[in-house]
Amino acid sequence: MATARVTKLKRNDEFKVSEGTPWTSAESAELYGIRNWGAGYFDLADDGTVTVNVPFDGKRVGVSLLDIIAGMQQRGVQMPVLLRIENILDAQISLLNDSFGNAMRSLNYGGGYRGVFPIKVNQQCQVIEEIARFGARYGHGLEAGSKAELLIALASLEAGSGYIICNGYKDTEFVDLGLQALKLGYKCIFVIETPTELPIILESSRALGIRPILGVRVKLSSRVGGAWNESSGDRSIFGLTTSQLVETIDLLRRQEMLDCLQLLHYHLGSQIPNIRDIRSGVLEACRYYVDLVKEGAALSYLDLGGGLAVDYDGSQTNHDYSKNYSLDEYCLDVVEAIMSALDPQGIPHPVIVSESGRATVAYSSILLFNILDVTRFEPGELPPADPSREPELIGNLRESLKSINPKNLQECYNDAVYYREEIRELFKRGQIRLRELSLAEDIFLEIVRGIVRELEQAKRVPAGLAGLEHSLSDIYYGNFSVFQSLPDVWAIEQIFPIMPVHRHTEAPTRQAIIADITCDSDGKIDRFIGKRGVGKTLPVHPLTEGEPYYFGVFLVGAYQETLGDLHNLMGDTNVVSVRINEDGTFDVVREMSGDSIADVLSYVEYQPQQLLEQFRKIAEHGVRDGRISLAERQSMLEAFSASLRGYTYYED
Ligand SMILES: *Cc1c(COP(=O)(O)O)cnc(C)c1O
Repeated sequence: MATARVTKLKRNDEFKVSEGTPWTSAESAELYGIRNWGAGYFDLADDGTVTVNVPFDGKRVGVSLLDIIAGMQQRGVQMPVLLRIENILDAQISLLNDSFGNAMRSLNYGGGYRGVFPIKVNQQCQVIEEIARFGARYGHGLEAGSKAELLIALASLEAGSGYIICNGYKDTEFVDLGLQALKLGYKCIFVIETPTELPIILESSRALGIRPILGVRVKLSSRVGGAWNESSGDRSIFGLTTSQLVETIDLLRRQEMLDCLQLLHYHLGSQIPNIRDIRSGVLEACRYYVDLVKEGAALSYLDLGGGLAVDYDGSQTNHDYSKNYSLDEYCLDVVEAIMSALDPQGIPHPVIVSESGRATVAYSSILLFNILDVTRFEPGELPPADPSREPELIGNLRESLKSINPKNLQECYNDAVYYREEIRELFKRGQIRLRELSLAEDIFLEIVRGIVRELEQAKRVPAGLAGLEHSLSDIYYGNFSVFQSLPDVWAIEQIFPIMPVHRHTEAPTRQAIIADITCDSDGKIDRFIGKRGVGKTLPVHPLTEGEPYYFGVFLVGAYQETLGDLHNLMGDTNVVSVRINEDGTFDVVREMSGDSIADVLSYVEYQPQQLLEQFRKIAEHGVRDGRISLAERQSMLEAFSASLRGYTYYED
């Protein structure tokens, strides 16, 4: 295998691959970091396609994403598609339960582990049904943060199987339902988040004659790092302050209900990248646990909340979108910290409850979309100079172009920017024509390209020219909406792994950012996983005329679906759930059509039938006035009505 010429661009983390470079999947795997962030679920096959690999009794079975895409096309499912791999969801639930089990065995822990999935992280029916079905073998439960979520939990779990942990604001209706569920055999625990909730619970409990199982949520002072650290510290909006906690205990004692207080809960925020923060949170919570037991509470559950992070960028560091610990380390640290705090006090080990949402579902969904178009920032062939007719400033630009050399890059760039500004001014004042402006812009681009070529060889890059190559990167237009399918990319600049799903035996010689099909300048992805940190462009393949080019955005199973919005009325995408079989085949187990145009119009209060009727009237007038024929009217109305039934994304 010939070695590839991969030039490391100076002072950033992108790579430039020269055209004609021999290329293999292995090189792509390294370039895109798929083996770092893929957690074994995603890899590149020798044929250049991304594969999904799921465990079967200790071995991995892989299926090419391109085969899954072909399967979807044979079923008439259009891009973009949210692809769910059910095996991955199952595997993550097993991993979490097995890791806690192993940690407890190895440290001789006396309590057990019971996971609950926080419904808010992905409320989709197919996901919750699968968690309830597969999780039953571990007694995996659900966390509900609202009345609607409690209804989902009650209908999805078998009574007596997983726990239901009720966080969030609880009114009488919520509380009555939860209390009655206890009678059915559910272990439904109310976590008191604010002092006003307790009187409501006590009142309902008296009225129904059912004793509740109670938890308290404490506000820890431990602050955590990461993008969601607002949930921790004194100003966290959730949880009881210490004085509220003392009042709660006193009230329960007066009511002779301290035995109902069985669970201590805290939640430090999602995606905690540093294991030190996790450990110090556990230790602080244990201080509360010990003193609540000493106050007479019948505590037997310690609920750690969420926070178990996903290594989105694969760097295994304490960066916001990474984590510096493995799942095994997380479990060992938690169990060990609890033992170290409780053993000296002679307090029995609690059942550990955790509410891991992100880590449970992130890996199981992939957003797939096709590329529709590309814009390149490359000038055409420049016409020969014509000093007799060209404005002098264009001549100056041509001089700058000719003069580029390693020693004058900054000066040359400054000149070019100056001349271009002057030419733009002339155009605004009407002193030069459009064609002259266009020629000037082309020469300017050619100068930038020349400078960037020199910079690739340069030992150091002048500060004023750092990142200049980004102004030349391509824009690839993807058939999706950032706002609908990747809201956190827009809202909090989250980084997700993204890469082409095929063609990895060809060198990705272009550098691009990805734009979506909304008409919003924020509808783009321009932060990518680089070799060391964040890159501004992604290496991609040149588009091949007439051939589809597919991209996948990975690890999007957590939080993205319901947070997404209808910007530009791009609706829900099609969703396909796949189960991979041990023999390497796969079944499409569920298929859900995304929103039609009629659907999204009705979300904003239009009545599609009425719209059609209004348009029919307008067309009728057109016929009457002789502007269109009856046949034209008919085909216009058919097109209108077909569009109403159609997909909100670009259709082939
Ligand atoms: C959001 C939330 C979670 C989920 O956190 P992850 O980091 O996604 O695991 C758990 N518990 C509570 C109370 C939450 O609000």
